[in-house]
Amino acid sequence: MKILFLSAEVAPFAKTGGLADVCGSLPKALHALGHEVRVVMPAYRPIEHGYHTDNPFGLAALPGELRVPTGAGTFPAGVLHGRLPGSPVPVYFIAEWNLFGREKIYGYEDDPYRFAFFSRAVFELLAALDWHPDVLHAHDWHAAPAITWLATAGQSDPRWRNLPSLYTIHNLAYQGQARWEIFDYLQLLTHSLAEEPYGWVNFMARGIYHANQVNTVSPTYAREITTPEFGEGLDRLLRARGPDLHGILNGIDTGFWNPASDPVLAQHYHADDLAGKAACKRDLQARAGLPQRENVPLVAMVTRLTGQKGLDITGHVIHKLLNNHAGDEAQFVVLGTGDAEYEAMFGHLAGYHRRKMTAWLKYDAQLAQRIYAGADIFLMPSRFEPCGLGQMIAMRYGAVPVVRATGGLADTVQHEHTGFTFTEYSTAAFWRALDQALQVYYHDKTRWREIQRNGMTADFSWEKSARAYVRVYAGCKA
Ligand code: ADP
Repeated sequence: MKILFLSAEVAPFAKTGGLADVCGSLPKALHALGHEVRVVMPAYRPIEHGYHTDNPFGLAALPGELRVPTGAGTFPAGVLHGRLPGSPVPVYFIAEWNLFGREKIYGYEDDPYRFAFFSRAVFELLAALDWHPDVLHAHDWHAAPAITWLATAGQSDPRWRNLPSLYTIHNLAYQGQARWEIFDYLQLLTHSLAEEPYGWVNFMARGIYHANQVNTVSPTYAREITTPEFGEGLDRLLRARGPDLHGILNGIDTGFWNPASDPVLAQHYHADDLAGKAACKRDLQARAGLPQRENVPLVAMVTRLTGQKGLDITGHVIHKLLNNHAGDEAQFVVLGTGDAEYEAMFGHLAGYHRRKMTAWLKYDAQLAQRIYAGADIFLMPSRFEPCGLGQMIAMRYGAVPVVRATGGLADTVQHEHTGFTFTEYSTAAFWRALDQALQVYYHDKTRWREIQRNGMTADFSWEKSARAYVRVYAGCKA
């Protein structure tokens, strides 16, 4: 099959979270199954700037330029192209400096216009390449305008009329709201959805409504989002899609996330020999400015600092942990950026527990790798979690996850087998699960070793899920 991927984030080119990991690794897994995949994303500032300077990704420019029609006129866009590292999968970057040459990926007033332009430009790119995919696979709200355009204005163009689409929900919490005039810009006519307040467009709802098939990134989250509690106002629409809504668990790029070959680690290790992990722990303690103590559990988090991630039940738990409520000593490190209130919370806790805790309030990909490798315990107390990659990466690196059993966390962490889980969203339940993990760590080394080994040898590769995607693609009929 010929599969077109559209995403606002693709690792390693641009990443704020799991969306990037998925769009950087699933195409490779599909390629390995014999399919032809091409990926399209915007050329953000570091990408276009990088191309013009030291060109770290070895990109090239397509000759000529695209002419992208919009309701505000026809605008030119350049196209850079390269490959997903370690694969022959082509990646195309839509280059429009005014829209994408900015400091951050998201967070601008005109985001709906930026991604509407990106989505519309994709069709001009396909025409320029003279490439006709069998399925258009759009990820999250930023690429949903492509599905809406395809299902409306695109239908009058014979080139696109029979192109089926799959829409993947990576996070229902970010829906992409825009004023109705965005449809003038996209030059399409449509009616309002029940989920759209008068005068407003909801791109997440549009993706769900217009795509031929819809999926999300774990079976449990696929069930949860059809309920009012998790549906973020779209549960009725999701229920209406009935059998067209699938749950396919994310995998991780096991070639990249591998403690036996990860180039940034102090020492390599594998499931049968954890000596290298002890060295990584000492290295992490040194970087964190914490005492290098072998038998004190090093607890960690790597996360976006948003309400989704369960941070309002975390502060008290960390305080108990570092006040030795489990009966013995512990250390804690956190790496994350996001909401000011949570940055302040961790900054405050780190100030109080100066000799036991360090908070890195930034984004740092290599430090994240060192944390997964150096940590004994990894926390993900999420309020909701579409899939979650952190817990899978942690298990692969022998850090035992303590997670709330919701969404993909429930599908990937087995209580007392690969980690520890709790259900009720409360500080008390979170503490009970962490305390349970700590008691095993302190008092039953053999069992701890078994739990580590179960996680390290579990199969989190993409292959099975890539096959599930192929089945869904095959079921997409325009
Ligand atoms: P989400 O997509 O909701 O952010 P996931 O668990 O699916 O959550 O994916 C998070 C990814 O982003 C993981 O690869 C994690 O290591 C990475 N990550 C999150 N915050 C940071 C940070 N501050 N620095 C480096 N990597 C981070």
